[in-house]
Amino acid sequence: MLAALREAVRDAWSLLMPVECAGCQRHDLSLCKECAECLIAAPTIHATPRGLRTYAAVRYEGRVRRVILAFKNQHRTDQARPLSQALLPALRRACEEAVGAGATEPLPKIVIVPTSKRAFRARGYHPVSLVLRAAGIRHARVLRVAKETSSQKLLGIQQRATNVDGAFVATRWLGASRVIIVDDVLTTGATIDEAARAVSAAGGTVIAAVTIGFTPRTGAARDIASGEGYGKEKGAQ
Ligand SMILES: [Zn+2]
Repeated sequence: MLAALREAVRDAWSLLMPVECAGCQRHDLSLCKECAECLIAAPTIHATPRGLRTYAAVRYEGRVRRVILAFKNQHRTDQARPLSQALLPALRRACEEAVGAGATEPLPKIVIVPTSKRAFRARGYHPVSLVLRAAGIRHARVLRVAKETSSQKLLGIQQRATNVDGAFVATRWLGASRVIIVDDVLTTGATIDEAARAVSAAGGTVIAAVTIGFTPRTGAARDIASGEGYGKEKGAQ
């Protein structure tokens, strides 16, 4: 309730404040045409260290990176809608390929990677939850943070996996649900693997993961089908 109120006040405030493009700081536009175009791309497919198929919308660099960081860290909740437009094709493709065209089974549950209470309090919203809401997609909050972890930023691949080990726990039994995990950015995939472990521990079957961005820098998450080379820097803006 308090979070919703805070969000409403923040949204109202952002309407009064002069705007600038979240991707390039150009004035009088919340997102310019060039930056908006950077958010539209064919989804690429990757694999986490434990081999979970992960569909990512756009490369996390340049304008895209700035938009996501502004959305997450500078209360630019106005970017939820454009980011939802980036996420949707990846989510759609994951659903189609995991479920199969024309399948009559119930659609998979969408489960988001949780953030810590501290992060939620500081921000007032859950970024991925907001993006899914902007896309009109129902999702389940079935995971919560079980232990605080250190920042993943400066850690190597193995250290990241160890750091997040046991980080999440499911708040209820998932029965035979099939689950697609959604997160903001795919880096090494360790966080998504940990979320998948927690879902499996509660009886769920994780069939795929979907992220808005994927970082081309770490060389950890393997690329399956996109032709995108990890560890290669391309056209950083
Ligand atoms: Zn821009």
